[in-house]
Amino acid sequence: MKKGNGFISEEYLDAMKYLWGKNKDISFDYKKYTEKYRNLSGLKGMEFFYDVIAERKLKTDKPVIGYFCNSVPEEIIMAAGAVPLRLCNQDIHCAEAGEEIIPGDICPVIKAICSGLQNDIKPDILVIPATCDGKVKLAEILSSAFDNIYFIDIPRNSDYTENIDLWEATYLKFYEYLKEKFKVKISRKELLNACKITNERTSIFRKIYKLRAEKTGIINAFDYFTITSASFLIPASDWTKHTEILYNQLLNREIKTNYRKNLLLAGSPIIFPNFKLLEITEEAGCYIAADILCSSYGHLFDPVKIDEETEKGIIRTLTLKYIAPSICPCFLGIDKLINAVIENVEKYGLDGVIYYNLRLCNVFELEIPVIRSVLKDKGIPFLALKTDFSREDTGQLKTRIEAFMEMLE
Ligand code: SF4
Ligand code: SF4
Repeated sequence: MKKGNGFISEEYLDAMKYLWGKNKDISFDYKKYTEKYRNLSGLKGMEFFYDVIAERKLKTDKPVIGYFCNSVPEEIIMAAGAVPLRLCNQDIHCAEAGEEIIPGDICPVIKAICSGLQNDIKPDILVIPATCDGKVKLAEILSSAFDNIYFIDIPRNSDYTENIDLWEATYLKFYEYLKEKFKVKISRKELLNACKITNERTSIFRKIYKLRAEKTGIINAFDYFTITSASFLIPASDWTKHTEILYNQLLNREIKTNYRKNLLLAGSPIIFPNFKLLEITEEAGCYIAADILCSSYGHLFDPVKIDEETEKGIIRTLTLKYIAPSICPCFLGIDKLINAVIENVEKYGLDGVIYYNLRLCNVFELEIPVIRSVLKDKGIPFLALKTDFSREDTGQLKTRIEAFMEMLE
């Protein structure tokens, strides 16, 4: 996107620049906050992941490409010699600070993004996909103030028979942009290597996902969502290495569990430090045995399945990893989410589904009646909850979850 379209005042630009990178006070002490979950863990292999999210520092001498959502292909970034860094933000302090430039009634994720780009993880390029209207407008506003904003304009229809050529063209354009930007020659060798790295990450993630679903209590929700949040912040190969260590510890773990029911969590993403819902479900004795969230399952579950090892062939295949299976509510294709929910509930014999709807996000809320009616026909208990990053409704959420648990019992 071109910088400076001339319609934004100097005063507004200054406010934005101030929020982006200058005001470190808006963020809370991540170290202190991780301690309570670290203490509940009891797993040595979790130390690494709690350190990652407490420090929030990417140690690399390579260029860093910040991005949002699940439709930006990490493999193309890695093949270009850069490190992908997912910057989706759910820090309430950032959301509150973001209100200085974004109206209060806009979704808290967008507000938090605006103020959450801090000095220590400042990207060289920021890639914003057209996943929802908020992100589209965000790309336009930020590009007025900053260089190096790249906008990925993908059609929001996850039917590949209709759209695969458009997706491929969009990814090829991004590929050419990075080659030009970094003055690098990328060959199929670099692309294949990047796909191998992310496929190894997918492979260990699937093992953890399956183990968690099959053994009640093997890993609590804080640990699980801490490792998935850490996958945003560190190179894929580091994440794979440390998740393998953790997995081996889990295999030998003795479990004593007081969980009352095994549930599936769907809906809006959950990213550290927004663990309020997890605190309530854990306290109610509800084991999150599986999840269909874009921040965990959506980010890590699908591999790249290459059948044609040319540059073009690999890039086409990447669209089948990122866009075709999309469970993001911004895309047409709610059937994919519903199928994934039903498949997981039936495969792992789960007791019900909690759907988490982030307040002020219409697309998640619009899905609720459809999912509720399909699950009702299947006899799968369903609870939809609407909340935000604040703690004000904790009591009310506790009551609703407790009532749901009693109904299940
Ligand atoms: S649900 Fe969709 S828009 Fe929201 S963070 Fe995930 S991929 Fe992005
Ligand atoms: S929560 Fe909704 S409105 Fe906010 S960024 Fe995600 S999809 Fe867009």
